[in-house]
Amino acid sequence: MRVMAQVAMVMNLDKCIGCHTCSVTCKQTWTNRTGTEYVWFNNVETRPGQGFPRRYEDQDKWRGGWQLKRGKLVPRSGGRARRLARLFANPELPSLSDYYEPWTYDYANLTQAPLGDDLPTAPPRSQIDGRTMGISAGPNWDDDLGGGPEHTAGDPLLEKISDQVRLEYEQAFMFYLPRICEHCLNPSCVAVCPSGALYKRIEDGIVLVDQDRCRGWRMCVSGCPYKKVYFNHSTGKAEKCTLCYPRIEAGQPTVCSETCVGRLRYLGVILYDADMVGEAASVEDERDLYEAQLGCFLDPHDPEVERAAAESGIPHDWITAARDSPVHALISKYKVALPLHPEYRTMPMVWYVPPLSPVVDALTGTGHDGEDPASLFGAIDTLRIPLSYLAELFTAGDPAPVEAALCRLAAMRSYMRGINLGETPDPQIARSVGMDEP
Ligand code: SF4
Ligand code: SF4
Repeated sequence: MRVMAQVAMVMNLDKCIGCHTCSVTCKQTWTNRTGTEYVWFNNVETRPGQGFPRRYEDQDKWRGGWQLKRGKLVPRSGGRARRLARLFANPELPSLSDYYEPWTYDYANLTQAPLGDDLPTAPPRSQIDGRTMGISAGPNWDDDLGGGPEHTAGDPLLEKISDQVRLEYEQAFMFYLPRICEHCLNPSCVAVCPSGALYKRIEDGIVLVDQDRCRGWRMCVSGCPYKKVYFNHSTGKAEKCTLCYPRIEAGQPTVCSETCVGRLRYLGVILYDADMVGEAASVEDERDLYEAQLGCFLDPHDPEVERAAAESGIPHDWITAARDSPVHALISKYKVALPLHPEYRTMPMVWYVPPLSPVVDALTGTGHDGEDPASLFGAIDTLRIPLSYLAELFTAGDPAPVEAALCRLAAMRSYMRGINLGETPDPQIARSVGMDEP
């Protein structure tokens, strides 16, 4: 067993209010420079919605991540794209209009502009060099002006799920999805770089770009299925989220974690078996990828793992950090956190607690609020956010792990609420979700 350590993040989506504080503080820290005007290492997108850059999840178009070819794992934007990149330009790059046009506030008119309509009544269009670049999208665009099925037609996930869960206005739903680079265990950005400029740090798994080695091929931009590498048009080099490594090295949280208004970002250490990663990323059925990745993670409380970690050169305080890590508990112990798009096969390391939306009362007629586990077990189809949508996002379409996570969350809420109200907690609920009994 070859044990490695990875700094990972879990975000609890029920707590995100879409305030974009994380995006703004990240931008002020890292990309407040010429050449990175359009760049958001951290972005918060409304779901359903088109995301950032627009429709980044459409891998038939962008060809990111990995694919199985004759049982072998190969980067999707490998040979053909690389040949074309040398001959012409990289053919699978998002354009500036896909990233939304950056804007500058007209500060002079910020407080003196004449009154206008409360809300925009037509989609604004980007004007770049006098040319119309198409209908804009942008932060909060989808929730401010969204509503019915025709609006969300641009969401590639909604297009995949069945007509039964397509939305009518009265059943519309939304939630926020904050995103950073996933600092993947099997990063396709590293694999496709012709210059060897992208690398994954051995000590903590953070994926970085060596600015001296980058030659501006931009294969990483097309190769990353999450579209989390950006091209700096001023320096001619690629840039990406650094997981605030200077802060991590100083024992501090990332800027986005520290400034998050909802306190929803948990940082921690995961120990994993590096020998299992390639095999796990190559499992045939993409619905098995969540379980396969979970199977690579090790229990830091296991004395055998502790011994193997020490033999692999993991410092003792990292093993202790992994034991105390909320990330390990949420992912492996309670199994309430799930990976984003495991079907890209990069083994992402930013995981999400899915939103536990209320039960749609009109459908059940029970009056239950979705936080009572007794009402949730068996009533999962009546959640406001369709299970199939969350499954497309987190488990390559397999609803079972999402359903289990939501039921556990409902049980935990009910249990903790009982404790907070001074009631005698039901030990059976604690046992059912793997919590320590009081
Ligand atoms: Fe690389 Fe980050 Fe994209 Fe993963 S999410 S492929 S580590 S840029
Ligand atoms: Fe969501 Fe936190 Fe970012 Fe606000 S700061 S948008 S609550 S992740």
